[in-house]
Amino acid sequence: MTTRIAIIGGGAAGCFAAICLKERMPEACVTVYESGNKLLAKVAVTGGGRCNLTNSFRDVRSIEAVYPRGSRLMKRLLREFSHVDAYRWFESKGIRLVTQDDQCVFPASQDAMEIVATLTRLMKMSGVTIKTRHRVSNITPTKKGDAKEETDGRFSISFSGGDKPDECADVVMVTTGGSPKPSGLEFLNSLNLEISHPVPSLFSMCTPGHDITRLTGTVVDNVTTGLTGTKLRANGPLLITHWGMSGPSILRLSSYAARFLHGNGYKAELWINWFGDKNETEVAEHISTLADEGRQKQMCNTYPRHLNGRLWEHILKQSGLKPEMRWAELGNKGRNRLVSTLTNDRYMTEGKNKFKEEFVTCGGVALGNISAKTLESKNHEGLYFAGEVLDVDAVTGGFNLQAAWTMGYVAAKSIATKHGKQ
Ligand SMILES: Cc1cc2nc3c(=O)[nH]c(=O)nc-3n(C[C@H](O)[C@H](O)[C@H](O)COP(=O)(O)OP(=O)(O)OC[C@H]3O[C@@H](n4cnc5c(N)ncnc54)[C@H](O)[C@@H]3O)c2cc1C
Repeated sequence: MTTRIAIIGGGAAGCFAAICLKERMPEACVTVYESGNKLLAKVAVTGGGRCNLTNSFRDVRSIEAVYPRGSRLMKRLLREFSHVDAYRWFESKGIRLVTQDDQCVFPASQDAMEIVATLTRLMKMSGVTIKTRHRVSNITPTKKGDAKEETDGRFSISFSGGDKPDECADVVMVTTGGSPKPSGLEFLNSLNLEISHPVPSLFSMCTPGHDITRLTGTVVDNVTTGLTGTKLRANGPLLITHWGMSGPSILRLSSYAARFLHGNGYKAELWINWFGDKNETEVAEHISTLADEGRQKQMCNTYPRHLNGRLWEHILKQSGLKPEMRWAELGNKGRNRLVSTLTNDRYMTEGKNKFKEEFVTCGGVALGNISAKTLESKNHEGLYFAGEVLDVDAVTGGFNLQAAWTMGYVAAKSIATKHGKQ
């Protein structure tokens, strides 16, 4: 009998898995149920419409640093389908890719629609059945060994709206993506899964009313940011916006601190080292050199090259120093205050803001529910998970889509191995 495979969610992981499944199990009946009216709607807007589909991993110090949730699982799964495999896979399907200086990988066309169109074409060509406007409201396992399981398969699938009949499947793969609200996972209730409470990740931080917001548009290339009272810290460029702080270092920090900040109502003290990894002694030396070189110059006119004049003036004021003061007038106390601000500048954050509408979910289906090798449920044979619906998420840079490709591939391979023709 033909194996009926239901994929719930037509996003990155679901569509990729569907193609991989049909490559390995051409005889299987693979159906993708998508609640929206189009497949891959989120992929279409990724990377600001350019789709940062993976990363070269060249600057990745550890998998833990890029996957704050799910690093152990990803370490294992990336051995099966890595960024190199993803790169080759997309190029083998005719999409030319480019790696930017920051190691993010995009289609050379700079158009996410090329990815959407290619995946959609491959699904159609391989005979995947696509059912859009099908929001799954329930997945019920049929009783093991009874006649219904024999004829209808292991699972019965119901849809919202009441106008669509239930459907059945032998194998179900859940790829419904991130859901920052717990209600988005209610369709899994009958399966009694452990859920790790979902909260948002990847956001900018608000410092309402603070003077620094006047410097909107200022970018500092390499800062270290952290949250007072925690060990959470992140490096990278920082962007000052009219509501507060943003840019890669802040997004990274928001990812590491997603749960902590949620628990504190997004109120926290943010510290910034404007000199990145440099410590107080190193920064003090830098300041001494500046002071020696420009003794008779006003402090506002001689400043570290990686900062701009407006930010420097702000830092001087934060340190209680008058910008028009001459370097020769800076005593030890003033120097210490300046070094302290440069390495440990403090701001109260009072909330979060979306970064270019980009966010991911921290939390979801807990990893304890599944086999790390196959992504199959430990309690329900034939039920698989892939993508952001699981408690796996990454910092920005193409790592989230890579997780979707990797998990989609592994889940498809596991299904083919276990449920394909022997
Ligand atoms: C604006 C934005 C930009 C981003 N840019 C990038 C980027 O450049 N690079 C990167 O790596 N990551 C990026 N991300 C994150 C990335 O898009 C996601 O991590 C990735 O799409 C997750 O893939 P997925 O298949 O798990 O979920 P999704 O791609 O979200 O797909 C899930 C699908 O399931 C459907 N669905 C949900 N519930 C049901 C249901 N009950 N029944 C049926 N269907 C359902 C949804 O409609 C959706 O189509 C971005 C995210 C956003 C929001």
